[in-house]
Amino acid sequence: MMTQLRPAALRHGLRALATACTALLIASHAHAQKLEVTTSFSILGDLVSQVGGERVKVRALIGADEDAHAFQPRPSDARNVGGAALVVVNGLGFDDWMVRLARSGGYKGEVVVASAGIDTLAMTKDDAHDHGHDHGHDGEKANDKADARAVDPHAWQDVGNVRRYVANIADALTKADPEGASAYRANAERYDGELKALDAEIRAAFAALPAERRKVVSSHDAFGYFGRAYGIRFLSPVGVSNNAEPTAQGVARLIRQLKAEKVPAVFIENVADPRLIERIRSESGAQIGGTLYSDALSKADGPAPSYVRMMRANLDALRQAMSGAN
Ligand code: ZN
Repeated sequence: MMTQLRPAALRHGLRALATACTALLIASHAHAQKLEVTTSFSILGDLVSQVGGERVKVRALIGADEDAHAFQPRPSDARNVGGAALVVVNGLGFDDWMVRLARSGGYKGEVVVASAGIDTLAMTKDDAHDHGHDHGHDGEKANDKADARAVDPHAWQDVGNVRRYVANIADALTKADPEGASAYRANAERYDGELKALDAEIRAAFAALPAERRKVVSSHDAFGYFGRAYGIRFLSPVGVSNNAEPTAQGVARLIRQLKAEKVPAVFIENVADPRLIERIRSESGAQIGGTLYSDALSKADGPAPSYVRMMRANLDALRQAMSGAN
């Protein structure tokens, strides 16, 4: 009985085994195809995801609503960065620590600087002088890399710059995974179209407001590029880095300026302590305009879970405050 059954059972078993093997091969192939990319912060993580699509698995070390200026890498971060197929950073002195982390974790590849080729903006003299010393996340002394610190790192706040980021990311992904070239090109083209429209939308929205209304206060100097691109004046009690302590005189000067210039609104940032802004608001009589997303996305269920939605959320908050609608 057993011997009679055996050929059929065997055939059946082999077929099942073959099916299972095929499924396993497909699964492992699909898994192997995912290019593991590690980036420093959430905004950059979204940009890589937009271009990489299905072919990449992106990890951002600094997550939603987290302050990149205060980030302290954990030992597990070095291992994660070291094991990545591709490492992408912002550059401009924002995440230099990531390069060292990647090397110490054993990463041998190229560290891609997403901001390469943009028209950089210098920090104001005050920032460089008062706050530059706090900008090193890496424990370096103030006089190291003075040139790198003189550049404002928050270039992603100008959508025009991010179009360059996207082109750089597409090039880097194509180099790391040539088989995905056409997918990366298609994703980058689609996303660039979205960014181009977003840029035009922001320009048009602010151009419609009178110049004297186009000024606000935010926690730290994260909006220099935004201001330059879209004609908004941002004042802030803190420098380019969030962990700089504002001086009492600096805060008093800012409050006087707010009153004299009739600045319509002050903004809290998602990555900054709101207490200082609350104090400035109560002493100046300006309105709280809401929350601006400067250096991090919101959580998935918040108003700024992607770069495009972050810029729209900032646009809406600013426009509302400046048009006096709140
Ligand atoms: Zn910042």
